[in-house]
Amino acid sequence: MTKANEGLTSHARSPFYIALKSALESRGQTIEDICPVGDHIARRVLHDYGAMFLASNDVLPPPVCVFTEENDVTRFQRAAGRAAATIDDAVVELQPAAMSALLKARALARVEGLNISPRDGAEAARRTFADTVRLWNSRFFPALQHWTNAGKLTRDQTERLCALPFNQQVAEVLELEKDGIFFSKDLSKSVLYSIAAPGTSQHIAMLAFDANEFHDARVREIMGIHGWFQTVLSDLPHFTFLGLPEPELSGRGLKPVEANDQKFWIPDIG
Ligand SMILES: [Zn+2]
Repeated sequence: MTKANEGLTSHARSPFYIALKSALESRGQTIEDICPVGDHIARRVLHDYGAMFLASNDVLPPPVCVFTEENDVTRFQRAAGRAAATIDDAVVELQPAAMSALLKARALARVEGLNISPRDGAEAARRTFADTVRLWNSRFFPALQHWTNAGKLTRDQTERLCALPFNQQVAEVLELEKDGIFFSKDLSKSVLYSIAAPGTSQHIAMLAFDANEFHDARVREIMGIHGWFQTVLSDLPHFTFLGLPEPELSGRGLKPVEANDQKFWIPDIG
């Protein structure tokens, strides 16, 4: 048995994999369909961003963990449907059920004198494949420059990394991060906690919203009441629409973890 398969076997009995298998079955899919076993990046994406696959039936999760081209993203976003709203001068788009819940959360917040507003404008919600590439590059290139200047990467290594296709580029970045050569904006943590790899974002799924007011515990509570939870550990402004009451989340294979004084519901992979 290969190392990857051993890992999979132990994961297979975890609450997240059990819940995921059953959620996918109801949509006529298997885990292998959305995320091939041998694809380490896809698995990492599934473990870091996978909560969205357990969302309520009011939304459509993406058909794959990693999109590889814009056409597939466009087709999926059309199938899921999208609703637009102008919030604080930014036009944001989400799946209809996610938007409806967000607007209700905003209405409740407003009654209490609070706001829930998009961080970085339209980018706070729906993103295209090209958006995820641009954002990846906004972390990748400065980090590459930094580590080259710091003597941790040679010019040859840097040039080779730049020339790789995205899936290999991401794989090599994650390998470098094992040695402490981090690619997040502040260079202190994995790039995946700072920005999604190209084609992988919950924002592509139109089930994510980055809020300026994430520091406010009451705002987070109001978001939770409306089915919006934080599911990507350490991505502090990022909320995911699950469309479920909080007491149901453990039954969906998610576990609560505290970080930076915030509660994250992440895949419980044991
Ligand atoms: Zn986000």
